[in-house]
Amino acid sequence: LTHTVGGSLSGLTTLHKSLLSGACAAARIAELEDNPRLVEQPGGTILSELKGAIKFTNINFCYPTRPETQILRNFNLELQPGEVFALVGESGGGKSTIGQLLQRLYDPQTGDITIDEVGLVDLDQQWLRRHIGVVSQEPTLFSGSILNNIRYARPQASQEAVETRRSKPMPIPSSKFPDGYHTLVGERGAQLSGGQRQRIAIARALLAEPKVLLLDEATSALDAESELLVQEALERAMQGRTTIVIAHRLSTVCKADRIGLLQDGELKEIGTHRALMAKGGDYAKLAKAQLGE
Ligand code: ADP
Ligand code: MG
Repeated sequence: LTHTVGGSLSGLTTLHKSLLSGACAAARIAELEDNPRLVEQPGGTILSELKGAIKFTNINFCYPTRPETQILRNFNLELQPGEVFALVGESGGGKSTIGQLLQRLYDPQTGDITIDEVGLVDLDQQWLRRHIGVVSQEPTLFSGSILNNIRYARPQASQEAVETRRSKPMPIPSSKFPDGYHTLVGERGAQLSGGQRQRIAIARALLAEPKVLLLDEATSALDAESELLVQEALERAMQGRTTIVIAHRLSTVCKADRIGLLQDGELKEIGTHRALMAKGGDYAKLAKAQLGE
């Protein structure tokens, strides 16, 4: 396994030994190759009971490779446990970046982020990433079976649990997958379409039952019909979980407890759909444009 990684990631030696076994290691290594920031420093706090309160305070952030471009400016956001928060704003405005910071794939230059009042910098990184369910536009898969990709966060889950309990809306038709759940997905899921990769990531997030859910254009690669189906499953999954949902589709956004409009690196408008429509600001303009009114 170490050999596969080659010398490109010297930081790998700092990983927990336990990480270097089985499917999880494979997934982790695939991610590591993509983003060296994922190298986890062992140690740190583990919360025995995660409630899912999230707080961003005075965050200023630019990507280290582009120090001249400030993405977030004095960004503040506080989420109650179980709250569903929709983040909207122009493409390139920094929505996905907020998700990256929450997973601690990058650290902000100033300000802090806490979960249940504990700073991300003090939390065990492996623990943190396992307790945030993430479905992104381009999910990370590793070259194993569909089954092992789905139960990545819960390697002990039985195939039955995967099939019946959590991934019902994500059928694996035998016409397309002769080996069913044991179909190999290829290097980083290359044998699958974008939509299939996204379904697997969604099934993975549902199976893990995380207290914090990050859905970043989670259904963007699905066709309209399956999107509807998957959307229902996701809406059920959001119940009782602190959720940040980034979506272009208004139908998803307007059901959120609160909506935040990200502009120029900060939340310029924040409130319920109803309140923001009444206010008649940029969110209302955006929403009306989408509804074609
Ligand atoms: P959004 O999700 O709102 O479309 P992003 O958070 O993805 O926006 O991106 C915000 C800005 O940061 C964009 O200008 C994007 O090009 C830039 N960016 C995103 N990821 C990186 C990265 N890893 N390195 C450097 N710049 C990045
Ligand atoms: Mg994005």
